[in-house]
Amino acid sequence: MITLSCETPGKFEFKEMILPGPKKGFALLKIRRIGICGTDYHAFEGTQPFFNYPRVLGHEIAAEIAHLENEQEFHIGEKVTINPYFSCGQCIACRNAKPNCCENISVFGVHEDGGMQEYISVPESSLIHGQGLSFDELALVEPLAIGAHGVKLAELKAGEFVLILGAGPIGLGTASLAQIAGGEVIVADYNTNRLDFCRSKLDIAHTINLSETDMHTRLKEITGADMPTVIIDCTGNQEAINGALKFLAHGGKLILIGLQKKEIIISHPEFHKREATLKSSRNALSDDFSHVINCIRKGWIRPLDFISHRVAFERLPENFEKLLNSQQSVIKALVEFG
Ligand SMILES: [Zn+2]
Ligand SMILES: [Zn+2]
Repeated sequence: MITLSCETPGKFEFKEMILPGPKKGFALLKIRRIGICGTDYHAFEGTQPFFNYPRVLGHEIAAEIAHLENEQEFHIGEKVTINPYFSCGQCIACRNAKPNCCENISVFGVHEDGGMQEYISVPESSLIHGQGLSFDELALVEPLAIGAHGVKLAELKAGEFVLILGAGPIGLGTASLAQIAGGEVIVADYNTNRLDFCRSKLDIAHTINLSETDMHTRLKEITGADMPTVIIDCTGNQEAINGALKFLAHGGKLILIGLQKKEIIISHPEFHKREATLKSSRNALSDDFSHVINCIRKGWIRPLDFISHRVAFERLPENFEKLLNSQQSVIKALVEFG
């Protein structure tokens, strides 16, 4: 089988590998689509912290079961996605039903080789039923689950104003899921195309174009001076995160989905007087995957709208840099396997 390995930053190489043999508790999957994610771009650029090379990238998986020892729960030929966050089952987080932040987490396609190959062997416990979704839709489940998890942590009440910072792929998904959860969603970004996408495809009424408007003034107008009671950062930008608190309503919550490498610096008096809650949202839980699949099946989210680019697996190396450089116009790029 053919594997695409990221040998060093900036360099992909196709390799002929032996098909993984049967292994107890593991399923062999034939890959059909892989979604390309910010993590993959950063790994290729060499800006992903704690990343080892060579590495097979790809953790947003749509596949078909090619082999399985025991067909009790899943069957050969079934369309599936996977939960790529492999946890230890032993640590304090795992024991408290939070395997998404396991101390010893191994993320498929990050800490271990991922999906950019014709076949993968993964623990059966990571399999998620496709439930009638297409391969295209299944490839979008994981990135949407990231948003679902952050929204769940926000514990939204109906009609609550939620500000989403950043309209990248994760921000757009988070905005959708916040809307489904009953939030009155506001999306802020500098990118006009992405804000247009919010209005036209996601039916989000409130967008703030930060290249044209002052955030504070617009938020006052939209919320009737209350300000949003929930802010979810999907930028992973230090400046945006440090500045977010001043836009938060008193008694509100600031949730960080995006991640950056430096310190978070916030004013203690500003934080204290709000009795604010600051939460980080890491990865996603199986429940979040199920919730997303359910939302897609009900037609509340249309993953196909998110797919802006497609590239054949064999053509990926020569096209990767192009995708990387046009991230402003790429919402989600899918790698297609024959
Ligand atoms: Zn991803
Ligand atoms: Zn653990």
